[in-house]
Amino acid sequence: MVEELSPQCSRKGCRAPGAWSLLWNNPKLHDPAYRKTWLACDDHREYLTGFLTARGFLREVTMFRAPQNDGSA
Ligand SMILES: [Zn+2]
Repeated sequence: MVEELSPQCSRKGCRAPGAWSLLWNNPKLHDPAYRKTWLACDDHREYLTGFLTARGFLREVTMFRAPQNDGSA
């Protein structure tokens, strides 16, 4: 099976590959242990973290590594 989805930035209209994982939780909608994940490119990390921080949703930001296909390079 071939994985064709390349993980992209979650900013609307942005097609850059994600470089950061933004883990967030909306306490009004989500179980406290649940984490939604957005990906952000370098350009939009600040925008997206700011968006989540302003709403009190942001829980964690980690570097994101796209899964590599082994044996194809
Ligand atoms: Zn982006």
